[in-house]
Amino acid sequence: MNDIKVAVLGSEGVGKSALIVRFLTKRFIGEYASTSECIYRKRLSVEGRQQNLELYDPCTQPCEGKSTLSEQMHWADGFVVVYDISDRSSFLTAKAILHLIRELNFGATKREADSVVFLVGNKQDLCHMREVGREEGQQLAGEMRCLFYELSAAEHCQEVALMFSKMVRNASLN
Ligand code: GDP
Ligand code: MG
Repeated sequence: MNDIKVAVLGSEGVGKSALIVRFLTKRFIGEYASTSECIYRKRLSVEGRQQNLELYDPCTQPCEGKSTLSEQMHWADGFVVVYDISDRSSFLTAKAILHLIRELNFGATKREADSVVFLVGNKQDLCHMREVGREEGQQLAGEMRCLFYELSAAEHCQEVALMFSKMVRNASLN
């Protein structure tokens, strides 16, 4: 049985933990006081096959240094890069992370390298405070060859589950 390893990256406060917890428990919990990085494990069935999923939640500011990211790239089969649509600086951080992922040639040896990096604009429920247009997210995803989602860990249980399931399926094809 293969383990599928997915790292969830992005600025502090964008909702990485909220997305992971939403996926694992179907619940939205307001605050997570995690101060250290953690790996969540879940067993799930992908197209009839049992898989172990490991989700890496850094729980700290993203380290944009190349060495850390390249270490994560050795570990991970896929990346979910998250920003908050109501926080432009988090979008710029997501952009920088995506550039590093591509610069370091993540997935070069993988059959479906393009399909295992997702860009996620979270907190769609805060669209009245929006600082990043949906089109901007779509455009960045297109440039960086990743799939794009805009969703809300607070309100979209099903969309969050679909996003992670798609990642698991794509990563398991590699
Ligand atoms: P992390 O640092 O990236 O892990 O972010 P957290 O998951 O800890 O979330 C940071 C804050 O944003 C918390 O107060 C969450 O309740 C809130 N949050 C996370 N996702 C959403 C969302 O989709 N909508 C709204 N309104 N708040 C969210
Ligand atoms: Mg967190």
